[in-house]
Amino acid sequence: MSARMTLAALGPPYATVASATLLPGAERLIGNDALAAELGLAPQAWHGPEATQLFAGNRPWPGYAPRATVYAGHQFGRYTRQLGDGRALLIAELDTGQGRRELQLKGAGPTPYARGSDGRAVLRSSLREYLASEAMHALGVPTTRALSLVTSKLAVQRERTETAAVVCRVAPSFLRFGHFEYYAHSAQFERLAVLAHHVVAQHFPHLADVAAPGERHAQWLTEVVERQARLIAMWQTLGFCHGVMNTDNCSVLGLTLDYGPFGFMERFRAHHVCNHSDTEGRYAYRAQPAIGQWNCARLLDACASLLHDEPEAAGERARAILPAYERAYNATVMQRWRAKLGLHEAREGDAALVNRLLTLMQQGRCDFTLSFRALGDQDLGALRTRYSEPAAFDAWWADWQLRAASEGVGEAERRERMRRVNPRFVLRNHLAQTATEAAERGDASALQDLLRVLQRPFDEHAASARFAQPAPAGQPALEVSCSS
Ligand code: AMP
Ligand code: MG
Repeated sequence: MSARMTLAALGPPYATVASATLLPGAERLIGNDALAAELGLAPQAWHGPEATQLFAGNRPWPGYAPRATVYAGHQFGRYTRQLGDGRALLIAELDTGQGRRELQLKGAGPTPYARGSDGRAVLRSSLREYLASEAMHALGVPTTRALSLVTSKLAVQRERTETAAVVCRVAPSFLRFGHFEYYAHSAQFERLAVLAHHVVAQHFPHLADVAAPGERHAQWLTEVVERQARLIAMWQTLGFCHGVMNTDNCSVLGLTLDYGPFGFMERFRAHHVCNHSDTEGRYAYRAQPAIGQWNCARLLDACASLLHDEPEAAGERARAILPAYERAYNATVMQRWRAKLGLHEAREGDAALVNRLLTLMQQGRCDFTLSFRALGDQDLGALRTRYSEPAAFDAWWADWQLRAASEGVGEAERRERMRRVNPRFVLRNHLAQTATEAAERGDASALQDLLRVLQRPFDEHAASARFAQPAPAGQPALEVSCSS
């Protein structure tokens, strides 16, 4: 198989030609010029009315027939035999300076995998996806990106009537754990192997020289598992909850994928559930690391046949990969918690120090993002008033100061380091909501102002202090659900 093989070239059932549905009155609300430049898009393909039609799905990308892919997945713990790109269309595969990039429209109408749904996405959720992708990218978290957001007056029925929007998102690949589950659970093992071969050749080229396929696939799966673990460790240390960590929403490249009812936690609660539809709290903040591991176990089950011809040996090899998750998770999460406290060296007792702080934050109903940011400012007087147990916080503070001083790093240097890892700005639900309300009136300025701040989340932006604040007291918390 050629190293330049596209997903489209694999043909059906991997990528089935599907067409977008005309979006009436399409208008571009916002476009990501920097990403367009990175992709090497020609100005005429990016600016002007023709580009709007392209990113609305109203015209095909020159030389490329749009495709949809089939996948399956474990949704809230239960296997669903067939899902797929119900409202996502691959509209281009580009070779860029940074490698292959896929462009996908979300909400451009139903595909053969829509299962009776309308194939659309509403402005509210599209805008959240756009903002969150770019915020995560700026925070250094692997994620799909957002290239453009097109709106329309087309009515879309959700809990209330809303209007349609189409996001164009970008990633090296949108392949999910669920793609592999689909072929394994339908006993299409040869097709499974073809897909794995494609992914390794395209996206893990450093493994191409591993001659024995079983070993090559074992190394590939180990990397996938490690990337997933590191991703969730990053989420945890940013207070980010995905909301729907089903295996069909897990990227084989370890990207944050499918922004739906996600949330950056405001008041720290270990049992916080950001998705209103998740009534059992399966994807609560504190459950996410273990859920990530469970999802990896499902991927390994699905891919066992790639590891050995004999089923028992294959299963054994697949199970032997899983511990890579915990190792990678523990190493990354502790490295990141330490960094958030301005610590560099690994010492015994660090995990306890972090846990004591999180417990105090939970008792004090403290804002996760602002609390870590304030620690870096080292203003004990201002800080301790945030905690409901000031004496316990003082004791923690003293222990932290001692621990930090023992590394021999000056206070100014530590403060600077902490500012580079503890963001001041994250995408708070109420901010996205305000930007949505303005956008629904056709005003993109609030969205642009917010985006500018989220793109530089570690800076002070004195004029933008309002974007750092939690939802105003008394304002009921916004409920975000799977309805999008
Ligand atoms: P999600 O909950 O967004 O991860 O979606 C789960 C599955 O439902 C995926 O296969 C989606 O493509 C599909 N889906 C969700 N919303 C729609 C929609 N409005 N139209 C068609 N398919 C959808
Ligand atoms: Mg999804």
